Amino acid sequence: EATPNNLESFWMPFTWNRAFKRKPKVITGAKDMHYTSDDGRQILDGTAGLWCVNAGHGRKKIVEAVQQQVARLDYAPAFQLSHPLAFQLANRLIGMAPGDGAFDHVFFANSGSEAVDSALKIALAYHRARGEGQRTRLIGRERGYHGVGFGGISVGGIVANRRKFGQLLAGVDHLPHTHLPEQNRFAKGQPEHGAHLADELERICTLHGPETIAAVIVEPLAGSTGVLVPPKGYLQRLREICDKYGILLIFDEVITGFGRLGTGFATDCFGVTPDLITVAKGITNGTVPMGAVFCRKGIYDTFMAEAEQAGGTIELFHGYTYSAHPLACAAGLATLEVYKEEGLFEHAAELAPKWQEAVHSLADHPHVIDVRNLGLVAGIELEPRTRAPGARGYEVFTNAWEDGLLTRITGDILALSPPLIVTEQQIDQMVEMTRKALDATP
Ligand code: PMP
Repeated sequence: EATPNNLESFWMPFTWNRAFKRKPKVITGAKDMHYTSDDGRQILDGTAGLWCVNAGHGRKKIVEAVQQQVARLDYAPAFQLSHPLAFQLANRLIGMAPGDGAFDHVFFANSGSEAVDSALKIALAYHRARGEGQRTRLIGRERGYHGVGFGGISVGGIVANRRKFGQLLAGVDHLPHTHLPEQNRFAKGQPEHGAHLADELERICTLHGPETIAAVIVEPLAGSTGVLVPPKGYLQRLREICDKYGILLIFDEVITGFGRLGTGFATDCFGVTPDLITVAKGITNGTVPMGAVFCRKGIYDTFMAEAEQAGGTIELFHGYTYSAHPLACAAGLATLEVYKEEGLFEHAAELAPKWQEAVHSLADHPHVIDVRNLGLVAGIELEPRTRAPGARGYEVFTNAWEDGLLTRITGDILALSPPLIVTEQQIDQMVEMTRKALDATP
């Protein structure tokens, strides 16, 4: 029988507990800003789950909505029947979408990875339907993370991951990442330098011919690979080049969507509107899996036109068994209500200056070589202690856990990004616990 002490032999340790080097750490409950660990400790959630529990854990309204829905309608076969909550959620999402009414359709998926795959296919179908079927090239960015589907790893910028899986999508190029530590170290908010890196898109266009390029996909703010805030003017420049050549711009807002930057979406925060937006995570506050793609006017119709053209098996063209799952829709609607009623995006914006000041107070720690922040996100980069990076990061991460704070570590970069319900006092607590974890690390 599995007990907390012998879980290793029962579970797939690869999926869980990777951050703890596969030594199982077990949580048994969560409420608001805290997890309860199996030894009864309260653990402050410094990362909003995996950047998804934006309204905090165990929110009554969301829990009840899911409970009631499962009793009323547990499943609706997505290719055959719809249900009211699917329309309601789509309408709510379009109502809150950025870009002054630019978006008019939502395509539902079940995760960030699926949303990315869907967006890439929608982009390709869009060009094909317009008689531009030669536009098949996709452009991602170094240090981009778009999930673990074949679409996501192909356009993703983690070279080591790409290499492991043989033939990926053909015809993918990567823009350079925007991280210029020598010029932007300890930048508060958006860095000043680096907008010119977007011009690499011009070079790629010259190389292959712009008429072969379908879409560019970037995270407006790269989260998982180390909190890389785009330099001022960078996204604007990408948009201009895409417009010039008829290339679609996709923002992967799986992390930045739903208030994390103090605005509904990064699109609002940076004032640049893409053609497609992928979301997941915060859409249901992390409770029930869901992803979605927001489509700019005119794009969805071409996708449907392509589906019609595909012939006999239109329902198999694109869509998932669990698209717009009733439980996810119920969770999503309740989540959006909580965000609105509690003004959580505004709360995040109000707290952002406090957050910036607090996280930058770690800048003078001898282990810290950079601090980056925007909205309620921070990346704290540590000086690697050994030639193989990650040893110091791992120790800081485990020290923080032992002290009762869950952080997220990528190599030697510590990410902090709390639920948006965080208080000023909890921000101070989080930063002090991080400092203590740094102090306790050689
Ligand atoms: N895109 C981005 C920007 C992400 O951060 C993530 C997950 N961290 C994904 C896609 C993949 O989402 P999922 O794990 O839900 O497939």
